[in-house]
Amino acid sequence: MAKLEEVVALAKRRGFVYPGSEIYGGLKGFWDYGPLGVELKNNIKSAWWNEMVYGRDDVVGIDAAIIMNPKVWEVSGHTEAFTDPLVECKKCHKRFREDHVEERKKIHKKIRYKTKGVSNITLTNEDKYYLFCSDGVSHEFTEPRVFNLLTEVFLGVTEPKQKTYLRGEVTQGVFVNFKNILDSTSMKVPFGIAQIGKAFRNEITPGNFTYRTREFEQMELEYFIKPDEQQAEKTFEYWKKERMDWYISLGMTKENLRFRKHGKDERAHYAKFAEDIEYKAPFGWSEFEGIHHRGDWDLGRHKLSYKDDETGKEYTPWVIETSGGVDRSTLFFLIDAYYKAKDRVVLRLHPRLAPYKVAVFPLLANKPKLVEKARKVFGKLRLSFHSTWDDRGNIGKRYYAQDEIGTPWCVTIDFKTLDDDTVTVRDRDTTKQERVNITKLIAYFDERLKT
Ligand code: ATP
Repeated sequence: MAKLEEVVALAKRRGFVYPGSEIYGGLKGFWDYGPLGVELKNNIKSAWWNEMVYGRDDVVGIDAAIIMNPKVWEVSGHTEAFTDPLVECKKCHKRFREDHVEERKKIHKKIRYKTKGVSNITLTNEDKYYLFCSDGVSHEFTEPRVFNLLTEVFLGVTEPKQKTYLRGEVTQGVFVNFKNILDSTSMKVPFGIAQIGKAFRNEITPGNFTYRTREFEQMELEYFIKPDEQQAEKTFEYWKKERMDWYISLGMTKENLRFRKHGKDERAHYAKFAEDIEYKAPFGWSEFEGIHHRGDWDLGRHKLSYKDDETGKEYTPWVIETSGGVDRSTLFFLIDAYYKAKDRVVLRLHPRLAPYKVAVFPLLANKPKLVEKARKVFGKLRLSFHSTWDDRGNIGKRYYAQDEIGTPWCVTIDFKTLDDDTVTVRDRDTTKQERVNITKLIAYFDERLKT
């Protein structure tokens, strides 16, 4: 398993993720995606959209505004119940989410055991993360206090300004458009509405790189069904499987994934029942997608209903939701793909997710005929695939540089190319090379991208 620090270092060095507003010291809980990070994230989002919208007859997409009438958040229950209870360490005054304390205590105990009787101990960064105080001893906390996670914004120029919120989840944008979708499309229950977009939470303890941030993206499906417990159970199980299979189909290691059922006391205010998809991260099993049975909570609160054309019956549909985090998926795809071979680092990203599909090299940068031919091949390939060019250093170094950013194929134009129009294609994972005719290159990569 890749160490988090190694992935963070690679992400910065190669342009996947940078600390947000870094030249001014950054801002806790905010990150910027660099040239490769934005590609990886976009590829994840478009793979999701392809699967959830283009691949289905029963789902349509929307893109709702981030800022909505504040009534949305009052009615949805978020101004009242979108909260995290926090406790404060009485010694160092650091605050922790109450629901994280028990788990930390267990790990803390292990660290104490490990270091018992040793005065001069070295703690790893991971160990340190679980310490409550710098001396690693204190266990005394204040009573929990409740903090609302919604981020307030103030609109207008004259006082009093209008107070509203940056959306705390993309979901509500779907519910407030439920009637619009019914009126403007031919969708009939059961059907779903998909959305990808930014959400904001005033997290008290952002951390673990891009895992817990204050600005993040969600990719969500709200699937509307008849109010029927059996139907709900079936739909819930169906989406659980679909979502888990999707991560595996894009290369995530099965053994690093699991479902975890929410206990009654940890369910969100809207959920009838809920399960998370968790990844075995370097910092422990961690949620990155939730499947929620929201019942009629939201449509009911917004006083929205549905009329069945056939029976003429009016009812409030129930909702099964799949709510995934784009940033958490991006992080876990990166961690899962990170592989350290003897002398090289390889990001074994699924080719569909890789920022570049193909890198094109002239064997020698100082041979104009090779460069000219390579430029031609590059020009053709980049019309079909996001491709990159490299003519620095020797071929071996170029291969390693591409391995490290996950480029699945490298194409080299050499002297043989000038004679017979074939190039060398080198595969990132096997490092095997084969000769392919230039006219067949596009079909060659197309076929491999489909599998
Ligand atoms: P957590 O318990 O970790 O705070 P949650 O259960 O509140 O998460 P949901 O409200 O179910 O999360 O949100 C759905 C998804 O949105 C999460 O599975 C996660 O991928 C993403 N998400 C939620 N909060 C954050 C955050 N602060 N930073 C990054 N992604 C987030």
